[in-house]
Amino acid sequence: MNEQTTAVVAGGHIPSRIAKTAKSFRVRPNLVDYDAVRAAFSWEVARESLDGLPGGGLNIAHEAVDHHLGTAHADRTAIRWLGKTGARRELSYRDLAKATNRFANALCGLGVQPGERVFVLMGRLPELYVAVLGALKAGCVVTPLFSAFGPEPIATRCEVGDARVLVTTPELYQRKIAGLRDRLPGLKHVIVVGDGAAEGSGVRRWGDLVDTASAHFTTAPTDAETMALLHFTSGTTGRPKGAIHVHGAVLAHAVTGHYALDLHDDDIFWCTADPGWVTGTSYGIIAPLVAGVTNVVVEAEFDAAIWYSVLEQERISVWYTAPTAIRMMMKLGADAVKGLDLSALRFMASVGEPLNPEAVVWGVEAFGLPFHDNWWQTETGGIMISNYAAMDIKPGSMGKPLPGITAAIVRRDEAGHVEPITEPDVDGELALRTPWPSMMRGYLHEDERYRKCFADGWYLTGDLARVDADGYYWFIGRADDVIKSAGHLIGPFEVESALLEHPAVAEAAVIGVPDPTVGEMVKAFIALKAGFEPTESLMRELLGHARKRLGAAVAPKAIAFRANLPKTRSGKIMRRLLKARELGLPEGDLSTLESDER
Ligand code: AMP
Repeated sequence: MNEQTTAVVAGGHIPSRIAKTAKSFRVRPNLVDYDAVRAAFSWEVARESLDGLPGGGLNIAHEAVDHHLGTAHADRTAIRWLGKTGARRELSYRDLAKATNRFANALCGLGVQPGERVFVLMGRLPELYVAVLGALKAGCVVTPLFSAFGPEPIATRCEVGDARVLVTTPELYQRKIAGLRDRLPGLKHVIVVGDGAAEGSGVRRWGDLVDTASAHFTTAPTDAETMALLHFTSGTTGRPKGAIHVHGAVLAHAVTGHYALDLHDDDIFWCTADPGWVTGTSYGIIAPLVAGVTNVVVEAEFDAAIWYSVLEQERISVWYTAPTAIRMMMKLGADAVKGLDLSALRFMASVGEPLNPEAVVWGVEAFGLPFHDNWWQTETGGIMISNYAAMDIKPGSMGKPLPGITAAIVRRDEAGHVEPITEPDVDGELALRTPWPSMMRGYLHEDERYRKCFADGWYLTGDLARVDADGYYWFIGRADDVIKSAGHLIGPFEVESALLEHPAVAEAAVIGVPDPTVGEMVKAFIALKAGFEPTESLMRELLGHARKRLGAAVAPKAIAFRANLPKTRSGKIMRRLLKARELGLPEGDLSTLESDER
């Protein structure tokens, strides 16, 4: 960061632009001239940077692990794991190759076939990384689940995704899965990592399977269009959607690691996201390993003191984190950072929810570096819009499209046709020109929902945004009712369904209420069945019920009772009206309102 910019920012106001000059960088950024790189970019040429499987074909795990074996990276630390209780484990690329081969052999030994689904549910343990990459080598399709999900979201995703194998811990198995096995007849194998009792059909110990397996394995002959990952995401209605990603997505991971995260050969990289969400897989596992850098994995949950010590002690050079965490650090003040030796830190990026301009600028005040916001979705498979290391930042903007990606703000006419808006500063829906390597290839078993995302050669993101005259994109909000809380996308329907299981609940509607730290807080409106009273104790019972079913990451934090919920003539609850009233905003078009809460 140049000294002048630091001084402007420290002066307390939000500059409209944080200028980058040659003095801003400790190493030359991978992308210096955005327009020139964009003009020259082609995915075909970029593809040449990948290794490919020996007999042709492409496999994410080969690019992330085995590709490095014949290079100077082979004995470099691939994964540096920092356990919750102070334990450390280092796996070189060579160690990781052997460990993933053993797990791939273990899966084959169980009779698991290429294409079958391997679900992974655990905290950030080294075995999680081995399981994901080993299963990809075996040609299986991997779904990492968030360990803070409750039994209901886990069971639904295993059902929708046809889970055949689940890798988890004994504790999570007993607490969240054992009671659901009758709902999951297709789940044949459960592999548990660690000590502790776990009883049930097909339950086996990780060590028993892996310790005796061979460390040699020939990666399954997958190609760029072979399904590799199934990542769940939520819509306004219906069950969670399993977005299908293919091995070819690794090209986007490589390109974004290079341009958007500015990874250089000797970086020590830390992505704070959990692999249970797409960022934690694409950038907490795949992109850094494809780049051959050292990937730091921190098992502990957010705690500012722990995070600062990781940044300092591990000499993190590139840090990819999220707005909620940044805002939590901001609350503690920049002074907490001031005494640290963060001389290794040279690039900071953020994703997952809107990054407010104050947070971008606070980065400069606290760390001497701005946070670089970037935007993408489960469906896009990788970063699509980004603030690049060498590009001026306009605080509050998501940046510019990745080279190789054409973005536009569009409007849809009544027939569903899409028309890009050519004037700047006009609100519309953010759309991306199809295809690109990491674009989802489907929602599993939901062709109709998938088709609805596309029109006239555009993928429609469901986000509202605008683009300014300099080509910077600005996020406005979602076009639908999904909620972003602490960076996690939550489908209101999933929360409402869990609430409706409670005998007292007649109707439920769930909205996101703005929150200064976590972005949006999940709030439920409930109409009770006859005979139930809206008491404090019932409210607590309902909050507890939802938390038990859904887990802390998804459950509502607040409940309001209503005699009735506002509905359209077709009986649909109008979440938008509840939200407008909650926020004191105009109620909008009420012509379809049939029955109201009041
Ligand atoms: P997910 O599929 O869970 O990764 O969520 C994707 C959604 O998160 C996007 O459609 C946006 O609504 C939101 N999102 C992701 N990154 C950003 C960002 N940088 N700024 C604003 N919203 C974002």
